[in-house]
Amino acid sequence: MPLITITGLPTSGKTTRAQQLHAYLASRIAASQTPSQEQEQQQQQQKQQQPPYRLHLISDTTLSIPRTVYDLSPAQLPAHVRSANASEKDARAAAYAAVKRALSPRDIVVLDGLNYIKGWRYQLYCEAKNMATPSCVLQVGAGQRAKGVNERRLERRRVRGEGAMEGGKGGENNAEKEGENGEREGENGEKGVEDDNGSVDDEEPYEPASWENLVFRYEEPNPMARWDSPLFTLIWEDDEAQTKEVFDKIWEAIAGENRKVVKPNQ
Ligand code: ADP
Ligand code: MG
Repeated sequence: MPLITITGLPTSGKTTRAQQLHAYLASRIAASQTPSQEQEQQQQQQKQQQPPYRLHLISDTTLSIPRTVYDLSPAQLPAHVRSANASEKDARAAAYAAVKRALSPRDIVVLDGLNYIKGWRYQLYCEAKNMATPSCVLQVGAGQRAKGVNERRLERRRVRGEGAMEGGKGGENNAEKEGENGEREGENGEKGVEDDNGSVDDEEPYEPASWENLVFRYEEPNPMARWDSPLFTLIWEDDEAQTKEVFDKIWEAIAGENRKVVKPNQ
């Protein structure tokens, strides 16, 4: 496979699921090399020269792509001009190069990102096919919650900005005051907003207009299209058991014994 393209609206929980999936795959790969199987596998490897799977997580963060590449200044530009957005195009080119570099039949790549353009998912599918390795799409959904997540991140940035300005005037009690607002300080003194799941969220927000625009431009994956299939879905409320069930199916599709045999140019 093994390419797993994550897709979903902005701030819908894609990175959270990508990290869970990465941890799950790492443990599956480790389990497939337990000592009892090791000898057998070594023999198999010698026969088939198949090294164990390697795992890669690629995202805007790992590629140092800032949120601003998604800014379109929609006040001046109509919504359909996305292809003219050079910075976003460059970001996709960087992601494409990173996927291409990592992908092989023995390298599992989790691509965490918006991946909202149908043609882009088609391009990724073709790349996997070219490498004779299966691919699948995991759609992450958050319903009405996604916008709230971005608004919280915007608010945190605003508070930080004010803090930085007032901090210049030297206000020790400033930090105290902010502490009362339910925020907590990280080890480096930065303040993060606590999430529903109790972790500290340190990601950058999207500009409100960019967020709306990305939602507007989002091209839903279609399970009937070969580049969007097999298509798996996780929503915000899906608990650990449900999540594991979906991850098990993904493993089966991309790495299990019955995984699809992919031949290039077919
Ligand atoms: P995205 O990558 O789509 O922008 P993130 O994974 O960064 O979204 O999630 C946005 C915020 O929502 C994070 O603070 C994260 O901790 C929280 N979050 C995401 N998914 C869930 C979930 N299923 N349950 C609870 N909180 C979640
Ligand atoms: Mg993310």
